[in-house]
Amino acid sequence: MCGIIGYVGKDKKSLHVLINGLKNLEYRGYDSAGIALKDNKKIKIIKAKGKIKNLEEKVKNGIETNIGIGHTRWATHGKATEINAHPHRVGSVTIVHNGIIENYIEIKNKLLKEGYSFNSETDSEVACALIDKIYKEEQDKLKTLKKVNKELKGSYAFAIIFEDDNKLYAMRKDSPLIIGVGKNENYLASDVPAILEFTNKYILLDKNEYAIVSKTNINIYDSKLQKIEKSINTYEATREQAMKNDYEHFMLKEINDEPLAFEELLKQFNLNNIDELTNSMPSLEKYENIDIVGCGSAYHAGLIGKSIIEKYADIPVNVEIASEYRYKKNFNNEKTLTILISQSGETADTLAALRKVKEKGYDTLGIINTVDSSIARESDNVLYIKAGCEISVATTKAYSAQVLILTLIALVIANNKKTLNKNEINNILKDIKMLPSNIKTEINKQEQCKEIANKLYKAKDIFFIGRGIDYALCMEGSLKLKEISYIHSESYAAGELKHGTISLIEEQTPVIAIVTDSSISEKTMSNIKEVKARGAKVVLITTNKILNKYKESHIYDAFITIEDISPVIHPLHVATLLQLIAYYVAKEKGLDIDKPRNLAKSVTVE
Ligand code: GLU
Repeated sequence: MCGIIGYVGKDKKSLHVLINGLKNLEYRGYDSAGIALKDNKKIKIIKAKGKIKNLEEKVKNGIETNIGIGHTRWATHGKATEINAHPHRVGSVTIVHNGIIENYIEIKNKLLKEGYSFNSETDSEVACALIDKIYKEEQDKLKTLKKVNKELKGSYAFAIIFEDDNKLYAMRKDSPLIIGVGKNENYLASDVPAILEFTNKYILLDKNEYAIVSKTNINIYDSKLQKIEKSINTYEATREQAMKNDYEHFMLKEINDEPLAFEELLKQFNLNNIDELTNSMPSLEKYENIDIVGCGSAYHAGLIGKSIIEKYADIPVNVEIASEYRYKKNFNNEKTLTILISQSGETADTLAALRKVKEKGYDTLGIINTVDSSIARESDNVLYIKAGCEISVATTKAYSAQVLILTLIALVIANNKKTLNKNEINNILKDIKMLPSNIKTEINKQEQCKEIANKLYKAKDIFFIGRGIDYALCMEGSLKLKEISYIHSESYAAGELKHGTISLIEEQTPVIAIVTDSSISEKTMSNIKEVKARGAKVVLITTNKILNKYKESHIYDAFITIEDISPVIHPLHVATLLQLIAYYVAKEKGLDIDKPRNLAKSVTVE
């Protein structure tokens, strides 16, 4: 988590670049922030608890310098206090750190014995002291960093300034870091959008590489300290994509971006017919089973993928939470395709899962949003979801785009295995082609979603029930609501509720029932009656067809329907409504929707 930014130039604009960069990085962590500005030998550190605006207030009218580093923190070691905020300075070394130093206690104890003392509770300050100590011994900065890299265990990216020169130093293990390339000025950042106002040219720093960055030079060294040449990339997204425009929140903007996101995603493939689609995808022919690995909403997207692939393509799919998968026994083999889903492509647990599969030599496919991210680069194949920048911590368009790619994968395998005939698939493809415009119909149901939100926002607990694919949607609907509205919520397989949790249903408890699968709608309707009989207030999310069947049954208190389209794309239509309902509940409660408490967008720690 956390955002790192660094600037070196000549026009004394470090304050402007750092604050601007931190604002763009705030989605990565926002419990505290700080900057270090260097003017000749003087290094001034300013930190503030809370959001970047608190720091901005503090540095107003501050001096501009030619060099500086900044950090927005997502605390892992020590509370979110000003003292624990980065940058940390020990002796002649000032650092900002993203990640976790796992062996920091051991190192701290050694350093304490050698006379070092510490102000903060962080693991990062310990790393800073270690750099200072080794630098005093080595008197060579690169050799120092190499030695430090050998001693530290865990995940990290560092931006470092030394007192005795005007350069930025960078070192990276598992956390992301890029070098922004400017004219007579250069940058360091956790991701490219942080510096897009200044440059869209960047170099990726890889694991165990080091960089020395001055205003005119960028030198990169490999793990053996050999100087290496790296290509300069151009970031495609525009800055506008990372801006809120007239929307009150990024989350609402990003839901409204879904048509565009789908359009960009689909552009990559040939959708004229299933054979052309198959040819425009990596080959999926040899696989007999699939593992899907992800965290949070990406895991939920995987569950939708499982439902669709198993139903239409008739092969078993095992969906795992990445933090579990990486430490458990896996039953994969050379006929298993492991699909890793991550918006940022940097999710630490998903990356670890990928490396575990690669160690065994089995095939991997990344479903990723951020181009050139670690998972994208390390997977055997990658499918980009092309959702554009997603700033809101609660994912919307990226989740939906992940589901869309999995749907295409299901159709390709169904074609390979001949479990659906070509005509059936081509008809589905016609609906998929219409998706960018059809999804607008759901987005336009905002008034209805607002009305539903109005009925929900005062609730203490909200239940989601559904069967099969609708249950997988319930899980995402419930997570979205919890994340941003802070209302406790549970998702339940509709038939499972009576095996315990129905005891929590009281008079007026809201239950959101998702019923889009007509083959089992009768069953879910019975479950709805069970909760209704116990006083629940039921919001039904269903298709027009199913609603017509149950119109007279008085089993719901409110409803919202999706358009009648191929069942395989029902989840995408429902997801948009669930996102809008969660959004309006949080808005009704007046919460900080884009930056919910305790969360961060890109989870680069275990
Ligand atoms: N582990 C460090 C801390 O707690 C860095 C956390 C981060 O990546 O924001 O300060």
